[in-house]
Formats: sequence, structure tokens, C-alpha cells
Amino acid sequence: MGGGRVRVLLVEDDDRVAGALIPALTRRGLAIARLATGAGVLDRVHEVDVILLDLGLPDIDGVTLCRQIRAVSDVAIIVVSARGEVDDRIQGLRAGADDYLVKPYDVEELLARVEAVRRRRGEHPASEPVVIRVGDVSVDLSRHEVLVGGKAVALSRKEFQVLALVAGARGAVCSREHVLTEVWGHRGPAESRSLDVHVATLRTKLGRPALIETVRGVGYRLGGQVARS
Ligand code: CA
Repeated sequence: MGGGRVRVLLVEDDDRVAGALIPALTRRGLAIARLATGAGVLDRVHEVDVILLDLGLPDIDGVTLCRQIRAVSDVAIIVVSARGEVDDRIQGLRAGADDYLVKPYDVEELLARVEAVRRRRGEHPASEPVVIRVGDVSVDLSRHEVLVGGKAVALSRKEFQVLALVAGARGAVCSREHVLTEVWGHRGPAESRSLDVHVATLRTKLGRPALIETVRGVGYRLGGQVARS
């Protein structure tokens, strides 16, 4: 982490895809390791910053593997699936992925997602602890921790980022465009749908549906009385 090279673990069984991606990403200064199967991925999660996970692997269902990774690490996960497999992508997000890409995707698009991850890593330095409290929900922006009624709630990286942006506005409206730019790095229809999924999942996970209010046609804001410490 920190200022070093972004380390990407490419989990991809297609040699042609891997063979094209690895030099392109290496040229951009990323450090790439590749596995052609799901076996061994769990041993490597702590060595990398981003996992690029093909959902169609020969030895394990990608969604299952995604869930297994998320159970042991908060590493950024971008799932990749073939065009049209919408259910797989939604399942991937529900399994804790931060984002998804549809094959065939552009290297520039992938880089934008990885860049967004890199930006987010430097977002809240540990020297500036900020905790936002609304009712019995507390969002610790520096520790990336969310407590509801004193109990920690496990969120994916992207879910946390969305919540942090809405909470950080402290009751002011946070526009969809702002969230999409900050968290996804790109404002397209796929990202917009992904944001909807993330907000729905957040409301479910937090068990406080009124916490994130939808401001129709504009964005989101925190519901309830905001306290800051
Ligand atoms: Ca595959």
C-alpha cells in the first residue's frame, strides 16, 4: 500500500486475455501476478492491493471464490464476466466485490477502476480520525469501520466508500454524479446501476433503511440527526 506500485492479482484462465493484459498493465506501472485457476488465490490475497477476478474459472465458481476472499480480506475485488451475464455481476457485488467489468473490456476502463482504488487508498489519512454519528450508527472514516448499535457491520470497500461520501456530507445532499465519480471513477449507465445495487445492499446490511435518503433525481443524504466527533 502507500505510495508503492499498485499490486494486482489477475485470476484469469484465458491465456489470450492474460497475455494481452499483463504487458499493458505492466507498462502503466502496475505490478501484476497471475493465477490461471482459483486454487492458491486465498494464499495470495494479503500480498496484493487489487484482485481482478474472472467469474468463469475452471476449478471454482467465481462468486463463491469472491465470497471466500471477502471473508478473509478487505482487498479490492473487481469481478469480470462475459457480456450478458448480469446475474453473475450482481451476485459478485453481493458477494463483496467492489466493482465489475464486462468482457471484452477496454484496458483504459480497467485502469480507471484500478486508479479509483488507488485514489481511495489515500483518501482518509490515519492522522485525521473522523467519526460521523447518526442515531446509533457510527461511521469511522479513518478506520473504515461502521458500527450499528455498537456492533461492527462488514461492508465491501465500495459500500463503505458510498456510505462515507453520503455521511461525509453531514445531511447535505450528495449527488449521484459525485458518488459515481469518486467511487467508480466513471459515470456510465452500468456504474449508475451498480450504485443502485450498492445503496440497496447498504440499507439492508445496516438495517436502517431510513439512514440513506434518496433525493429524487439528485442523489442521497443522511436521514436523522447528525453528530460529529
Ligand atoms: Ca474464464
